[in-house]
Amino acid sequence: MIEILEVTKKYRDTLALNQVNLTINDGETFAILGPNGSGKSTLLKMIVGLVKPTQGKVLVDGVDVWKNPREAKRKAVFLPQRLSFPDNLTAREVLSYYARIRGQSSGTINQILKEVHLNGASDKFIGYYSGGMVQRLGLGLLKLTPSKIYILDEPTVNLDLEGVARFKELIRELKSKQCTIVMATHLLSEAEQLADRIALLKEGRLIAVKNALELKRTSDADARMMIVFVEAKPHYREILLQNGAREVEITGDIYRVIAEPDKRPELLEALRDAGAQIERFWTEEPTLEYVYNRILAENGIQ
Ligand code: ADP
Repeated sequence: MIEILEVTKKYRDTLALNQVNLTINDGETFAILGPNGSGKSTLLKMIVGLVKPTQGKVLVDGVDVWKNPREAKRKAVFLPQRLSFPDNLTAREVLSYYARIRGQSSGTINQILKEVHLNGASDKFIGYYSGGMVQRLGLGLLKLTPSKIYILDEPTVNLDLEGVARFKELIRELKSKQCTIVMATHLLSEAEQLADRIALLKEGRLIAVKNALELKRTSDADARMMIVFVEAKPHYREILLQNGAREVEITGDIYRVIAEPDKRPELLEALRDAGAQIERFWTEEPTLEYVYNRILAENGIQ
């Protein structure tokens, strides 16, 4: 269990975390969601003993991280946001090095290089790697280092689609082993897909903790339905509003409609009954900012 107790962090004039209280349970996949600068990295680094709380404390399995850093660091594996390895080493050498300092066998290295799709580049210098390849090597290190707790800072930021798919597989594998995973992300969809619970941070404050379904409901309810008609008529707007749309905004040919998900089929039917021909129709997720503001409003926060 990870307990974050009344934690505040000040960097000179910046209040990076403001009285955060949070408990993450064993076996839970927990996402910390927030825009840049909201305090996500600071919180993760505090869990692994790299940042000292100005006030409050963090306990990992009951161990005070700042008072017993050696013991606490052994409990969790940390994947930082900006990974850097010496340019003149190869992926294989990095993995071998880590295996050696951890007293592990290097027997699985070939398999790991294959799993993270670095087998073609495993003997090339890291200096020639793209950001995504470096990130994949980071995932390789996670695979090399069995642990019960994984702390991952924006793990998909540099990954291409294939890399993201591999990452999701890895998370599912760790989940099935009842590992505890704490990951920072600024992607709503990633948090919804992977996490059991999600904490929303804004300017160092914990705004809310939601389970994935609750968050999905909030974002679904505000997803915009986009409609392009073969020939738009002015009264279509009224039809939409009369049949349950909350808002209709028209930009050029595109009607942006906000309506509860269960109202959408009725809306399309009402349009069809009025003789409207729909050329294109799709939905667009609300932005993280939008979901925040809604949750802030729900919690009575300005
Ligand atoms: P996030 O991970 O959500 O982008 P961070 O935890 O990195 O947020 O940063 C939170 C705030 O603390 C930001 O305003 C950032 O500029 C500031 N900050 C982070 N690390 C330092 C540091 N070492 N020194 C001074 N300010 C910092």
